[in-house]
Amino acid sequence: MKTFYILSLFALIGTCASKKYTAKIQDVKDSIELVDTTAVLKYANTITVEELKKHLYQFSSNEFLGRRVGEPGQKLAAKFLKTYYQNEDIPSPYGDSNYYQTISSNFFNKKYKNSENVLAYIEGSEYPEDVIILSAHLDHLGISKDGVIFNGADDDGSGTVALMEMAQAFKLAANNGYKPKRSILFLHLTAEEIGKRGSEFYTLHPVFPLENTIANLNIDMIGRVDKFHLNNRDYLYLIGSDRLSKELHYISEKVNNQFFNIDLDYRFNDEGDINDYYERSDHYNFAYHNIPVIFYFNGEHDDYHQVSDTADKIDYPLLERRIKLIFATLWQIANQEHRLAIDKNNELLK
Ligand SMILES: [Zn+2]
Repeated sequence: MKTFYILSLFALIGTCASKKYTAKIQDVKDSIELVDTTAVLKYANTITVEELKKHLYQFSSNEFLGRRVGEPGQKLAAKFLKTYYQNEDIPSPYGDSNYYQTISSNFFNKKYKNSENVLAYIEGSEYPEDVIILSAHLDHLGISKDGVIFNGADDDGSGTVALMEMAQAFKLAANNGYKPKRSILFLHLTAEEIGKRGSEFYTLHPVFPLENTIANLNIDMIGRVDKFHLNNRDYLYLIGSDRLSKELHYISEKVNNQFFNIDLDYRFNDEGDINDYYERSDHYNFAYHNIPVIFYFNGEHDDYHQVSDTADKIDYPLLERRIKLIFATLWQIANQEHRLAIDKNNELLK
């Protein structure tokens, strides 16, 4: 009888606690009101397979020599991006014709030559001091021992062209009266392949104060399908979305449910996941500074870090859909009335 009583009490407490938790999650969800639902889709629809294909075939061509950090091919990649933003009339955050954040060879212990992050910027109309960083790495592995070029179409040509197309869409929206309320930094990072050094450098030398950097959405490989999804290709792995901001996670979910219904797969977000992807791309350097992040990723495939990662193997309609999801998520964070809430210790839910 005593045992029974204690067990019942535990059951009761358990029920109350979980109700409270569920109610608080619901409060977070209810606090999110999607903004500009018509305009979001209108501008998302300017992101097209044709343009993605054109940019990606060029960026991952042999001309760029595998974009190895500090080498001529990587310099060409940086110049390609700078020229693109200049042609699109999207400014640099430095306010002049310099789009590069130069990283000295000393930062690489002289093992690599000088390199550069490439930055473009759209200033917010109402809260310009709040900055959201959209990132992807521009470097790759260079040339193999046998003299074959690593084209890196998925890694990370897919993320690179995603930034280019999203920047163009935001710029067009701004020209038509939909300037984002918060600022957006398009950050093309170098030196990811040698240990996330470009994002490390940025967070040590931020162009905008890290305390005003309200989120980082990082894209590293979103143009392919992994072996777990051969029969369910309309998916994307999201990693980190709920770790520092529950609100970020539920914004991402709500935007997806409203517009896209892509299967968002969180298996690699488990804290004990042996792959440890949470620490394996550039977003980690932002998360390290308590900035909420989402890492968008298609998982590994047979061509990962092989010379066979080429532009013809990209699923372009899928790439387009995934970019539209990221675009709409970014739009919401940039334009909703309140600043994204951080709750790195689950404060919102206590
Ligand atoms: Zn990568």
